[in-house]
Amino acid sequence: MTPIELYIHIPFCVKKCLYCDFLSGVFDEKMQRRYVAALCNEIKYVSAKHPGCIVSTIYIGGGTPSWLSEDLMDAIITTVKQSFKIDPLAEISVECNPGTLSSEKLNVYRSIGINRLSIGLQSANDDELKELGRIHDYNRFLHTFDLVRKAGFDNVNVDIMTGLPHQTIEKLEKTLSSVTMLRPEHISAYSLIIEKGTPFYDKYKFDAVKQQAGMPTEELPTDEESYRLYKFTMEYLENKGYKRYEISNYARNGKICRHNVGYWDRVPYLGLGLGSASLFDNVRTDNIRDIYKYCEISEAIAAGKNVPSEHTSPYYASEEVLSKKDAMEEFMFLGLRKIDGITRSDFYKMFGIDIEAIYGPIITALRNQGFMDAKEGRLFLTDIGIDVSNQVLSQFLLDK
Ligand code: SF4
Repeated sequence: MTPIELYIHIPFCVKKCLYCDFLSGVFDEKMQRRYVAALCNEIKYVSAKHPGCIVSTIYIGGGTPSWLSEDLMDAIITTVKQSFKIDPLAEISVECNPGTLSSEKLNVYRSIGINRLSIGLQSANDDELKELGRIHDYNRFLHTFDLVRKAGFDNVNVDIMTGLPHQTIEKLEKTLSSVTMLRPEHISAYSLIIEKGTPFYDKYKFDAVKQQAGMPTEELPTDEESYRLYKFTMEYLENKGYKRYEISNYARNGKICRHNVGYWDRVPYLGLGLGSASLFDNVRTDNIRDIYKYCEISEAIAAGKNVPSEHTSPYYASEEVLSKKDAMEEFMFLGLRKIDGITRSDFYKMFGIDIEAIYGPIITALRNQGFMDAKEGRLFLTDIGIDVSNQVLSQFLLDK
């Protein structure tokens, strides 16, 4: 059986955060119910097209999946279990936001097999949370974290952000110390990115340009300050026993996020729900992004109607067969995000050719510059290579 991962998208949030460009929005319960019914139809439709697969991880992301009522979450997991063969040791994660969980909901999560939660804290400073437009304050997060532990979850991630407007080392240290004191098994620390089309873009776009150009900024940290915040985070978390295993991800006691590691290892995955991406048999697809169209298509399929499509599935908005060159580039970009990097033998297994035959001169140059190193058949970025990972990884584009 082919091991696969499932990503399930829940595009609902209580309120849109000011920096967020994810595919999510505020919809009432009626729409949530309609969407979950459409999603369950898609799960059945997709599973019928992928026999012979066994699911090793399920990641329910969003949006704010924990905003769904427990019966809707139950319906999703039940449909997945009825439609796919699931590894009994599968990692089943749900993204949660403070203030959207109750002990009843968490008990249902446990009873249906959810075994990992990821909580979006972002900052332990209330002024920063307000600036980000989050729905919670730090006390609300603490309450949520307490509920999660009391419900018996022993595999919990907390998301934090660096590079926030006016963020200082002292403020970041408060967030890091508050979080590490709680001893979650996993911490993700991403830098704020000012995305087009968000209120933050309107507010900070000039600062973001200055930041990228290495010029003095007004409200965002300068490029140099951002680097200091990033380094401080890394050293702080490592000192507290969190091992960095990917550029922005840290785990203690080996409790890495298996689902994300699967992405970086190019394990085939099926994306279910609005806008979800899949990679299967070297074909990359993206689902449609219009929620009304998505529901209409899914309802028509469930009613047995013929839904015309220019793609191999009416749910797709795009479909691309990856060339061997695309797949090799992706193997390098994704695999080298991991601190352990990639192995020569995996490259050979996947492409039937020695990595040196494709990337030999680039690897040698990067090793000579101190950006890359090799050990026991593995190739990985050094600390300074990770610091400039965007530039280093771009070297692995073929036919530049
Ligand atoms: S909770 Fe997450 S997905 Fe929802 S608006 Fe905020 S950042 Fe975006």
